[in-house]
Amino acid sequence: MATTEKRDYYEVLGLSRGANLDEIKKAYRRMALKYHPDKNPGDAEAEEKFKEAAEAYGVLSDEEKRARYDRYGHTGVGGMGGFDPSQFADFSDILGDLFGFGDFFGASRRRSTRPARGNDLRYDLTLSFEDAVFGKEISISIPRVVTCTTCNGSGAKPGTSPVTCSGCGGRGQIRYSQGFFAVARTCPQCGGAGKVIKDPCATCGGAGRTREEKKLAVKIPAGVDEGSRLRVPGEGESGYNGGPSGDLYVFISVAEHAKFTRRDYDIHSEQAVSFTQAALGAEIQTETIDGPETLRVPSGTQPNQVFRLRGKGVQFLQGPGRGDHYVHVSVRIPTALTDEQRQLLEKLAASEGENPPEDRGVFEKVKDFFGG
Ligand SMILES: [Zn+2]
Ligand SMILES: [Zn+2]
Repeated sequence: MATTEKRDYYEVLGLSRGANLDEIKKAYRRMALKYHPDKNPGDAEAEEKFKEAAEAYGVLSDEEKRARYDRYGHTGVGGMGGFDPSQFADFSDILGDLFGFGDFFGASRRRSTRPARGNDLRYDLTLSFEDAVFGKEISISIPRVVTCTTCNGSGAKPGTSPVTCSGCGGRGQIRYSQGFFAVARTCPQCGGAGKVIKDPCATCGGAGRTREEKKLAVKIPAGVDEGSRLRVPGEGESGYNGGPSGDLYVFISVAEHAKFTRRDYDIHSEQAVSFTQAALGAEIQTETIDGPETLRVPSGTQPNQVFRLRGKGVQFLQGPGRGDHYVHVSVRIPTALTDEQRQLLEKLAASEGENPPEDRGVFEKVKDFFGG
């Protein structure tokens, strides 16, 4: 699982921090066209630049993510960046099929004999709250396309091999003369491969590729959050003609928890205390992700007061340390008093220089009405 040090998103796109959306779009478009994998087949560095630009764009083009990034840096946007393929929708007409998620067997353009990188795959994974907090090794099963082992990807029946295409003489292109110009076109007979398969492989039907269900153990690092993305290098689809495999991207979503909510690396919970505990102070047990924790509620605690349990939050995804746990206190007012309790509270009220509540009679009447 590679999470390398990240460059500043503005720097990635060559922008100043005050750049407007239009400038961001233009910069991303320029980068994406320059480093597009189809233009730089097999060039790992270009590919990284391409993805880096996509990630930077994903964050900077989203007003909310950008604001968080400006304030908190990379950790502010989930630590794993704001990669979001839906962001590509704007440019799909220019860039075409960027990642080809789920693009099984590809299109006819793949009939080339040049080595090309395999498609990346996307896997959506929903984690429990705890698994996202603590991390976990998770077994997943991904359907993917791999090189056919029967024919080693040639598509030809074992013992035979593809023969040179008669349409183009193996060049993959046909040249037409139009006046002074010579125009080259992809050969329709072989689709540009230059070779045709006479006896197709029985396993893959001549495609050279088969589907498989791959079981994979993915190590989820502690601290991932909704929207985190993990790259598993080389676990995408097989490459074409000996090209490298694509990568697998695991997109994380996190289920809600009954007691805890999460904000970045902090955890929030609610804790009810009694009216007397709030007034007099108390030591109470409250739930954290590490288990019960002693919380000292001082005397005079008010409703909605917040207490911080330092370091009891979520493990930072990058670097050591943890966020904090915030306990939001709610104060329970007693609803059914015994006679003794009522007398005590009346004494308290009297000592505060107040009279017992005027509407006490109403409660007595209600009680009578219900036969209480
Ligand atoms: Zn085959
Ligand atoms: Zn041909």
